[in-house]
Amino acid sequence: MTTVLPRFPSILHALLAHAERGADGTGVTLIPEPGRAQTLRYDALVGAAARAAAALAEHGVGHGDRVVLCLPTGPEFITAFFGTQLLGAIPTAIAVPARFGGAAGFEGPLLDLADYLRPAAIITTTAVLDALPEIAGTSLIDGAALLARATASDAPAHPARLPDVDDLAVIQCTSGSTGRPKGVMISHANLAANCEQFTSCLDWTDADPTVSWAPLYHDMGLIVGLLCPVYNGGHAVLMPSTRFLRAPVEWLQHINDYRGAFSAAPNFAFGYAAARIRDEDLEGVDLSCWRAALCGAEPVQAATVQRFLDRFARWGLPSNALVPAYGMAEASLVITSTRADAPLRYDSIDRQVAVAEARVVDVDPHGADALRVVDCGEPVPGTEVRVVDADGVALGEDRIGHVQFRGPSRTVGYFDLPEETAASVDAPDWWKTGDIGYLRDGGLRITGRAKDLIIIRGANYFPTDFEQAAETVPGVRLGAVVAVGHRPDGGDSEELHLIVETELGAEEHEELRRAVRSAISARTGVLTAAVHLVPKRSIPKTTSGKLQRSKARALFVDGAEPVPQSSPS
Ligand code: ATP
Ligand code: MG
Repeated sequence: MTTVLPRFPSILHALLAHAERGADGTGVTLIPEPGRAQTLRYDALVGAAARAAAALAEHGVGHGDRVVLCLPTGPEFITAFFGTQLLGAIPTAIAVPARFGGAAGFEGPLLDLADYLRPAAIITTTAVLDALPEIAGTSLIDGAALLARATASDAPAHPARLPDVDDLAVIQCTSGSTGRPKGVMISHANLAANCEQFTSCLDWTDADPTVSWAPLYHDMGLIVGLLCPVYNGGHAVLMPSTRFLRAPVEWLQHINDYRGAFSAAPNFAFGYAAARIRDEDLEGVDLSCWRAALCGAEPVQAATVQRFLDRFARWGLPSNALVPAYGMAEASLVITSTRADAPLRYDSIDRQVAVAEARVVDVDPHGADALRVVDCGEPVPGTEVRVVDADGVALGEDRIGHVQFRGPSRTVGYFDLPEETAASVDAPDWWKTGDIGYLRDGGLRITGRAKDLIIIRGANYFPTDFEQAAETVPGVRLGAVVAVGHRPDGGDSEELHLIVETELGAEEHEELRRAVRSAISARTGVLTAAVHLVPKRSIPKTTSGKLQRSKARALFVDGAEPVPQSSPS
């Protein structure tokens, strides 16, 4: 195993070093909307953060305190983030509630988080502040007012205190795909190690501009979009995720305008961009600068990312730009990554053998039994990965099992959850990821999450396989299908239930159910016990857009009234 020596002991050491370059340095460009770009050079950012730190200290925030940031991507966020860190306090970012003016209780996740982390302060927008009740022991701070103070040159600055490497740098919330989000404690040493690992394995330097819309409250957005560029001293260009969703072409336009070399997004975004962006909006766009389109955070689907590469090849997108990577908040971010110049690689494996024997056998990619699994690359330098069976015994290549990792970016544990932390560690130092996969030629392939496996008569099925089959049926909304196992009356075996969003009228439901069932049995040979049709946007997702399968099961299967079903076709 290669070891890794970070160039900087912490992200703050890096930031302060790059600020020394003054006018020769770069910084962070924020584009709230096209035409309104604003750049904060690293020296200006350090000055603003030090003044924000002084203001936070006046609000009673001190070393080791937790601070919740509930702010959109913008200068308020980055100033508050580094201001908190300069004070030796620990930032945690959370999504700004989307449903303003909507149902009461939209501030629930924020209050739950405050209950869990007991922060010294919450920094947020005026609209959220208006809706929040008082919280004992927590200062509620207006992010815009904090920024105004931080950019007023006569405001006092807090003297920068460089952290010890074992101090916490951030508490990163997991997405909440499988349950309540957990606060992952990331030390400065963890974070610096992961920035070093990722940038060195991709040859990502200060000469490579990074363009990002991925939300800063998610580990991928924070670390790829902001912290790796800051660590390198390169140029970070940030746009809000809401702009990407509204007008995905802006992503590609900013990559063109700033000659972006690195940009990360989850799988769904590549499909969304390929489908939604129109040729006529791409006039003058040249994507030949884009060296690494990082794809992670959720399963990478070969067909989706290949469609993206093909779709934008005409605008110069290199055919090897797609870089699948695998990681999780518990690893700071990245565990494995393919290399920046490698072509997309995937295996076509026998579905039946994978399910019945947890082993990998290659088959004809076009055959009915082919399951495509994308190579997510080797462990980043300094990290190790192994695959173990249910008893914790390490398996050889091409054997499907539980994925574990260890290395310098591994979390010290979940905040205030010692039992969950202990349950995640396989002594002495392996972290149980909860994901299932296999190794081949040293590269990791992920086939699913252990919690989502559907166990039918002793065989382990991956929900994605059923979901992808259902998505081929017209009338089924893309990315809005969930497959879950349901154990009727405590029986031994689970049966397969599909939850499917559709906009079709009731008269077409019976036909749609039949078509979903036959698509699934044609691809997998499994009979579907029930297809639950639900309206658009009713399948629960995390704020980062991941499907919440167990929550969906609780909503639509366990608690549901029996739905009239025709017999399986
Ligand atoms: P929670 O832990 O709260 O249930 P989460 O696991 O979705 O939420 P994150 O840390 O944001 O929270 O995401 C990490 C998970 O995302 C991984 O454990 C894995 O299941 C999935 N993931 C990340 N990268 C990939 C990838 N390349 N392929 C497949 N799955 C991936
Ligand atoms: Mg997780």
